[in-house]
Amino acid sequence: MEVPAGPHRPVADSDSQAWWSAIQDRTLMVNGCASCGRKSLYARPFCPHCWSEDVALVAASGHGTLYTWSVVHQNAAPFDAHAPYVVAMVDLAEGPRVMSTVEGCDAAELRAGMALTVSFREDEDGFVVPVFHPAHPVSSR
Ligand SMILES: [Zn+2]
Repeated sequence: MEVPAGPHRPVADSDSQAWWSAIQDRTLMVNGCASCGRKSLYARPFCPHCWSEDVALVAASGHGTLYTWSVVHQNAAPFDAHAPYVVAMVDLAEGPRVMSTVEGCDAAELRAGMALTVSFREDEDGFVVPVFHPAHPVSSR
């Protein structure tokens, strides 16, 4: 699927185009290395661990853990519509760390190391972004 362009959308270069296209189809991909077997992100035509160019995008499990996060209370348009929101660093089960957001629970309930699962949020303009939710119900206090 074509990645829609917009002033507040990521600029997809030739390396990230395939990754963002997969996101539009609701699949989270990681860069898989056939030489050393490790996974990496962002998408690029080589492996940052062993420099092999024998890499290809492979589907991730969608499971990860929360490494750290912060809460954005104010931002300029159009991001103000979502404030307050969580900016999270998520360690994927495959190894790469990605920046995303966590939805579906109060920011006060976030814990480092908590299990997260990816899902896909379709924004008003039809652009799909990967977001994370708690993998297990969070007990309210
Ligand atoms: Zn490698």
